[in-house]
Amino acid sequence: MKTNLCYDGCDLVGLALKYGTPLYVFSKSMIEGRCSEIREQFIKRYGGSHAYYAGKAFLTLAMCQIVEKEGLGLDVVSGGELHLALKAHFPPERIIFHGNNKTRQEIEIAVDQDVGRIAVDWEGEIDIIDKAAGLKGKRASILLRVTPEVEALTHKYIRTGHRGSKFGIPLERIPYVVKKSLSLQNLNLMGFHFHLGSQIEDYRPYIEAVDVITKVMSDLRDDFGFVTKELDIGGGFGVEGFEKTTSKPISYFVDPVMERIKARCSEFELPMPSVAIEPGRWIVSEAGITLYTIGSIKKIPGSVTYVSVDGGMSDNPRPALYDAKYYAEVANKMGRPKDKVITVVGRCCESGDILIEDLAVPSDVQPGDILAVFNTGAYNYSMASNYNMLPKPAVVFVDKGKDILVVERETYDDLLAKQKFIFNV
Ligand SMILES: *Cc1c(COP(=O)(O)O)cnc(C)c1O
Repeated sequence: MKTNLCYDGCDLVGLALKYGTPLYVFSKSMIEGRCSEIREQFIKRYGGSHAYYAGKAFLTLAMCQIVEKEGLGLDVVSGGELHLALKAHFPPERIIFHGNNKTRQEIEIAVDQDVGRIAVDWEGEIDIIDKAAGLKGKRASILLRVTPEVEALTHKYIRTGHRGSKFGIPLERIPYVVKKSLSLQNLNLMGFHFHLGSQIEDYRPYIEAVDVITKVMSDLRDDFGFVTKELDIGGGFGVEGFEKTTSKPISYFVDPVMERIKARCSEFELPMPSVAIEPGRWIVSEAGITLYTIGSIKKIPGSVTYVSVDGGMSDNPRPALYDAKYYAEVANKMGRPKDKVITVVGRCCESGDILIEDLAVPSDVQPGDILAVFNTGAYNYSMASNYNMLPKPAVVFVDKGKDILVVERETYDDLLAKQKFIFNV
């Protein structure tokens, strides 16, 4: 009886042998499935709508190519992400550039490369963008990021739309910033953006934010005759993490929000703006699995059993950062009764390097077994570090039985590539 875990037609134990561990494995068909759901259930159903994949969740050249081919736009938050996108030949007009502290140089590059939208996060930024555009003889299309003062029910480190957030322009400053943007010659103010946070499991915070922003849109039309053409409601659509539950469809989030935008616009007699979403996690989280090899197994008398893996907070900092929950299976011992409860820990020199608590596994779990941690596609590879001089794992895409290496494993020499001696050797 075959007891190995298979994923998108590939034997995960075989992949661990072939590429080594830790290893990030992504189902290409699942990523494409999520993109196609967004096309069918959002873009095609709501005229003028757009979706930008939030690259910070997981961005590589190969991922960029998939997003491009699937017809989505891309949300970047730094010069580095922008550079990667341009190297992947991603069409710049489909890129939106975010960030609460973009440098002058990053803005100049974005303007020069004709990036589609720049989301302005603070008042001083409009002058910088206007100047950069003026020097290049261009007109930059901007959105203003508004802090809608909505509390999304999620961890405080991933909440971004509340009053007092470091992100966005405070509501009471919006009239001033709109007036100023309209007075500058090299700017084209298209509308507004908000982003409430990440891993939001309910559509209702979006409705609250829509109520706030549509009132702002109505006031601006009345006071300055400014008509909002675009409204970007950000990302943050949550995924279900534990065990085998599947996430909510995109329609769960976008349908009620679109209905509310329509209702509010008709109430205020505003033309319907074109609406954009920026999902990151929702597209890529469930497509990713991390494979580890189990090493030390330590039973603390009267307490827990620690099972150590050959990675940890270096490739997945989220449990340590904000208590994120994960689920795993012993990939070479599927279908056996799980009569042992363990704590999965990483190999980093931190007591907080705990990946999963209270995981049930087969009682004969032993060193050399392969552990598959699910739902690691978002904010794992992109947040990985070289703590303890651990090389970053390779990334493999699987697609209906084929495996494709898209990022090579770092080598020890890669870790030293930028270092210099101080004394002669
Ligand atoms: C992080 C971020 C997103 C994506 O968030 P997810 O939770 O991954 O969907 C979208 N827009 C902006 C501005 C962001 O900062």
